[in-house]
Amino acid sequence: MRFALLGSGSQGNALIVEAGRTRLLLDCGFGAGETVRRLGRLGLAPELLTAILVTHEHDDHVGGVARLARKFGLPVWLTPGTLRGLEALFDGIEVHRIEGYACLCIGDIEVQPFPVPHDAREPAQYVFSDGARRLGVLTDTGCPTAHIRRVLDGCDALVLEANHDADLLARSDYPQVLKQRITGRFGHLDNAQASGLVESLDCRRLKHMVAAHLSQNNNRPELARAALSAALGCVPDWIAVAEQDTGLDWRAIA
Ligand SMILES: [Zn+2]
Ligand SMILES: [Zn+2]
Repeated sequence: MRFALLGSGSQGNALIVEAGRTRLLLDCGFGAGETVRRLGRLGLAPELLTAILVTHEHDDHVGGVARLARKFGLPVWLTPGTLRGLEALFDGIEVHRIEGYACLCIGDIEVQPFPVPHDAREPAQYVFSDGARRLGVLTDTGCPTAHIRRVLDGCDALVLEANHDADLLARSDYPQVLKQRITGRFGHLDNAQASGLVESLDCRRLKHMVAAHLSQNNNRPELARAALSAALGCVPDWIAVAEQDTGLDWRAIA
């Protein structure tokens, strides 16, 4: 199994996971042309995709999904709550509803959806498995829950939100209401919360740790690296950071 990110952050998100002959795109916050360009950077054509999964209805995750799905005939998987209000957009597209966060299989990949606290209708984050290895993805989450800890325990690779540094955000010129939204229980994980979550997980199998969804205004890659490496007791450089423009190149989970 291997994975890569086309880009990560409030301007657009997309992650690709591949196992056997199956390639799933998780979210697509980029336009169709931009997505094709970013897939090309990873050596992929859109025709090679199997399906698209969606985490939630915010534009940086779903903005490009319908157009890409329609253009390349891709089925889309999402929760009923995420679909609500987007039905017209998905007219004519093969849509599958993820009911009650039930596990599913798409081709060679097992998908375990799980609920997260975030200001969306029915947000889901996911663990992907080829039967042997597990990749856990968690972004757009206000606070870690006991269920999140259970689901992410013992993963071989983690893509984890480190959205902001609390001090940088507090000192920023963001309006107070926006600061409260970001730091609230249904907002985004900051570096310290991400670090605390990692500390509480069994990371003995962990081979890849990727910091994701970093705020371009209120975080720095070195701050996210410092927080996560402190939790793992590793050197900061071992922590990868998924960038808004360049994403993250393929990582094999062996
Ligand atoms: Zn987001
Ligand atoms: Zn969101």
